[in-house]
Amino acid sequence: MTAPTERARTIGAAVEAFVRDVVAPYESDPRLDAHGPSDALVDELRGKARAAGVLTPHILPDGTHLTQRETAYVLRQSGLSPLGPIAVNTAAPDEGNMYLLGKVGSDDQKRRFLDPLMRGDARSAFFMTEPAADGGAGSDPSMMQTTATLDGNHWVVNGRKAFITGAEGAKVGIVMAKSDATDGTGGACMFLVDLPDPAITIERVLDTIDSSMPGGHAVVRIDNLRIPADQMLGHSGEGFKYAQIRLAPARLSHCMRWLGACVRAHEIATDYANRRHAFGKVLIDHEGVGFMLAENLIDLKQAELMIDWCADALDGGANGGPESSMTKVAVSEALMRVADRCVQVMGGTGVTGDTIVEQVFREIRAFRIYDGPTEVHKWSLAKKIKRDWKAAQA
Ligand SMILES: Cc1cc2nc3c(=O)[nH]c(=O)nc-3n(C[C@H](O)[C@H](O)[C@H](O)COP(=O)(O)OP(=O)(O)OC[C@H]3O[C@@H](n4cnc5c(N)ncnc54)[C@H](O)[C@@H]3O)c2cc1C
Repeated sequence: MTAPTERARTIGAAVEAFVRDVVAPYESDPRLDAHGPSDALVDELRGKARAAGVLTPHILPDGTHLTQRETAYVLRQSGLSPLGPIAVNTAAPDEGNMYLLGKVGSDDQKRRFLDPLMRGDARSAFFMTEPAADGGAGSDPSMMQTTATLDGNHWVVNGRKAFITGAEGAKVGIVMAKSDATDGTGGACMFLVDLPDPAITIERVLDTIDSSMPGGHAVVRIDNLRIPADQMLGHSGEGFKYAQIRLAPARLSHCMRWLGACVRAHEIATDYANRRHAFGKVLIDHEGVGFMLAENLIDLKQAELMIDWCADALDGGANGGPESSMTKVAVSEALMRVADRCVQVMGGTGVTGDTIVEQVFREIRAFRIYDGPTEVHKWSLAKKIKRDWKAAQA
């Protein structure tokens, strides 16, 4: 992968060296469990990243962001270990939350909620999805049931949320709810909240297939959460618009990080195939194995090209809806194939925790669902195709 600019090359090289040399040895640390790395481990890694000058590398000291194309280069390097994004502060949900706060937050909100995230001193959580069993927001966010009611100078929020990554241990929350106002300002809203708050109870942390995100994914109950009116992010009724501002780049940055993880998994599988013998020769000399690695190379390159294309579109001012949908589908499906082949090439070792290959396989499986399942993106693209066809007929 070629760096698009000199500054991206410099930052990316420093991040890559840090992730390979300092972070990768932590991949077998006992402070990693099924619900992700512990906060003690996160703090230790971030301390090292700070000292190495690679913390929050995609945001410059003056608060401006690298371009999306530059970010693609740097975030791929951070993803070379599943722990890399956490260590250098490019991980979800913080990366997307920082982006949204930078775009929509007031100066006061940025000082209070964004600055600690950029310094790597706090983690955040994004509260949108609701339990399927309650019939709440999932693929269809308009089904949101969490309510926000204005009471004097405060909003009062009630509801339940599900799959809230990092809610346990987060210090900043972005909570989505629907305002019941009838004056034309009703609809989806976003609120900034300090966490923990006694009105927000973690009912349970789900046992999920993935394990890279600190705090895991929680089911949360919100009971009469009182939020000062000046902690609304942006304007009442515009919450879904802000969700889109966050989601197009956020799903692209997932593609960037997981591309890095699959590049590394492919390196590990390649190493295995070149050292391990079966039936009198090294595995890579068996066509069945060599072809799997060749197919990996093709999928990895196609994923990289899609990411760069989408990044260029966002940098060019596109809102990124169709581009990010196409890229998310193409990249997550391609990386799933890559991760699966890496497991297969490595035989039994591929399904053990002895290398990150097994974890990368699990992570990519979940990635095909969050930030929009594959089918939802295809469905929205199909709607666009129909719209465009109708417009062409008119
Ligand atoms: C690991 C992980 C982390 C997450 N982190 C967060 C978080 O931090 N904050 C947050 O708010 N949410 C989070 N989520 C939730 C995630 O955004 C939702 O899981 C996702 O939007 C899908 O919603 P759902 O699970 O309710 O699936 P459902 O809405 O029940 O959909 C189930 C399936 O139906 C199919 N489907 C749905 N609609 C269509 C359609 N129009 N056309 C064709 N098929 C369709 C798809 O195959 C889909 O997978 C996370 C999820 C996971 C798995």
